[in-house]
Amino acid sequence: MVNRFLPDSPAIFTMGHELKHFLVDRDYKTLWCGDDNVNDKIEIGAEVFSAELMFPEKDFEDLLVQMEVKKGECNPEILVRLKHATKTTLSYAGLVKKAEFLGFAPKGSFNRVKWQQLEDQIYGVPIHRQIKRQRKQAKELTW
Ligand SMILES: [Zn+2]
Repeated sequence: MVNRFLPDSPAIFTMGHELKHFLVDRDYKTLWCGDDNVNDKIEIGAEVFSAELMFPEKDFEDLLVQMEVKKGECNPEILVRLKHATKTTLSYAGLVKKAEFLGFAPKGSFNRVKWQQLEDQIYGVPIHRQIKRQRKQAKELTW
């Protein structure tokens, strides 16, 4: 079961995660997806499976090569542009893991990145968030 109130991105990721359990792990008598077993091999496998389903590693690598990004030289702006261009629902955390795993960026080099802020700097604040912000400001003025 997937929480139906989740936004698209985590909902799709969770469905991929659960699909792996359905396809591969269904013979296990007990299986629990929770924060206390995130290091479990079965759970890691489900996370990798889902990330691969959403954005295959080969596609990720091919696109970075096309963008002329060399190993060790990937930066946050490149990942924002890649996410925007591909419209992938894979999170920035997932993209960072791929970039680090494939050697496009040194491990930990994206730790302090404010992804939403960077996305807004590059592409502007999307209209739905501008409206939301204006409504919030209008509401604060009436109090
Ligand atoms: Zn799981």
